[in-house]
Amino acid sequence: MVQDILVLKFRCVGKMTATTEANVHKYREQLEAQQDEIRRLTTVSADSRKTVELDQTTQGRLSRMDALQVQEMALEQERRRGIEVQRIEAALLRIDSGEFGYCTSCGDDIEPKRLANDPAVPLCLTCAQR
Ligand SMILES: [Zn+2]
Repeated sequence: MVQDILVLKFRCVGKMTATTEANVHKYREQLEAQQDEIRRLTTVSADSRKTVELDQTTQGRLSRMDALQVQEMALEQERRRGIEVQRIEAALLRIDSGEFGYCTSCGDDIEPKRLANDPAVPLCLTCAQR
């Protein structure tokens, strides 16, 4: 009797969870695609992150100030990409360990809409708003 209740409870929880196997597979593909895209952008932008050279000939009409600003922006973008890559890697690890879809703070299900919007999201809405 007690066992029956436990099984029933377990089934309910399973039903409520947004991350069915098919979903997880979809999210993994999505996350890996995002990762590839970020890596591609990192390679493309490597040039603008190079140390600004004093030699004006390499910069054409761009002044040194402009060049520094461009470099600054590129570095900031790169920093953000680094954070994003870490977020995605963490999400992929959660998929591997079967913890994907659960809030890393409280352990509750992450809202399906939230995951659909950003599969790398680590927190449920409640914890994110804390
Ligand atoms: Zn939470």
